[in-house]
Amino acid sequence: MESSVQEARQSIREEVRRLCQDFPDKYWQDVDKHEKYPKEFVDALTSSGYLAALIPEEYGGAGLGITEASIILEEINHCGGNSGACHAQMYTMGTLLRHGSDEQKRRYLPAIARGELRLQAFAVTEPNAGSETTRIETRAVRKGDRYVVNGQKIFISRAKHSDLMLLLARTTPYEELQDKTQGLSVFVLDMRDVKGNLDIQPLDIMVNHHTTTVFFEDVEIPVDNRIGEEGKGFRYIIDGWNAERILVASESIGDGHWFIERASRYASNRVVFGRPIGANQGIQFPIAKAYAHVEAADLMRFAAASKFERGEKCGAEANMAKLLASEAAWEAADVCMSTYGGYGFARDYDIERKFRETRLLVAAPVSNNMVLAFLGQNVLGMPKSY
Ligand SMILES: Cc1cc2nc3c(=O)[nH]c(=O)nc-3n(C[C@H](O)[C@H](O)[C@H](O)COP(=O)(O)OP(=O)(O)OC[C@H]3O[C@@H](n4cnc5c(N)ncnc54)[C@H](O)[C@@H]3O)c2cc1C
Repeated sequence: MESSVQEARQSIREEVRRLCQDFPDKYWQDVDKHEKYPKEFVDALTSSGYLAALIPEEYGGAGLGITEASIILEEINHCGGNSGACHAQMYTMGTLLRHGSDEQKRRYLPAIARGELRLQAFAVTEPNAGSETTRIETRAVRKGDRYVVNGQKIFISRAKHSDLMLLLARTTPYEELQDKTQGLSVFVLDMRDVKGNLDIQPLDIMVNHHTTTVFFEDVEIPVDNRIGEEGKGFRYIIDGWNAERILVASESIGDGHWFIERASRYASNRVVFGRPIGANQGIQFPIAKAYAHVEAADLMRFAAASKFERGEKCGAEANMAKLLASEAAWEAADVCMSTYGGYGFARDYDIERKFRETRLLVAAPVSNNMVLAFLGQNVLGMPKSY
């Protein structure tokens, strides 16, 4: 790789690290404890331009690639922060960029890049469908120049902290479809000015993710806000999955490094039985092993990202990166907990907060079982379980 590209990436890393210094452990502990939205951090990331990393320069964004975007999210988590506060803007960008019309891009992207509009909510999951997205029931029925939406979504994060919601809804009843992957459509719902009843209810969950249940009752969306063709929405969402998996892997890699650094430092300083606990192999080796696993996942992340940037098929690498990184980070989290002994449970040490946040990435935005199913079935050609 050209050294200028490497230098540019290194300087992004350092700048994000500098930005994160203004948001130390205390800041994240406080937002977590009081379940606040880390608005100051998201504002700083927006005004630095990093949140608009994937928006092309012609629309006022930084025009960076998936590798750079992944480095940004990695560094936020590596510095102790929680990218979950704002990562949706990067996760969803591909759907708008690849399938949105020029008019939609002009309408939304410059304002998102300037920080005047927030695209932080992505509404797919439903109680009766779960991982089986093609079973979603929220209906969007066309009436003239509008769609009227009725239904319910669950686990929708940041809906109260976003202006726009990228919504997947059913436009053709399931029973009428020959091909069950058709019949769903993607919309940009502008939540600032909703006609109908949009009811957003907080969910009480173990991480500070501002996750909600969203009820739609006769919510109107102009036809102009449909992305791409009617009925092709599932395809558009799938198109974004590789980028999403690379980005989420990077967050886990950041978490993994954070835990390993904390664990190594604590193990070197904490003296029990007259010597640092890290001199004991029972403490040292698990930390070293977790480190090796995080580093291996990191290589897979870069392999996936460079294939993605070259426009090559990268489903296998992107899925493996997500699997390996989330498992390695969770291993590092567990090892760090053991290293800290009882202190790992004390909120002041911040380990338990990260422990909770890190576990999430094993299950969401896609569960590792679904990732294994992709590898088993699509890469290795074994029979399908669904
Ligand atoms: C904090 C948080 C934030 C979230 N944010 C969002 C958001 O912003 N937007 C959004 O749309 N969704 C969001 N989600 C939802 C998340 O993507 C789903 O929870 C996830 O996709 C799984 O759906 P489910 O919980 O219904 O699990 P289920 O589908 O009920 O699955 C339960 C378990 O069974 C496994 N399983 C199911 N079928 C199979 C099979 N055939 N083979 C093997 N294993 C199987 C699953 O992998 C999983 O482990 C969020 C979830 C959480 C917890």
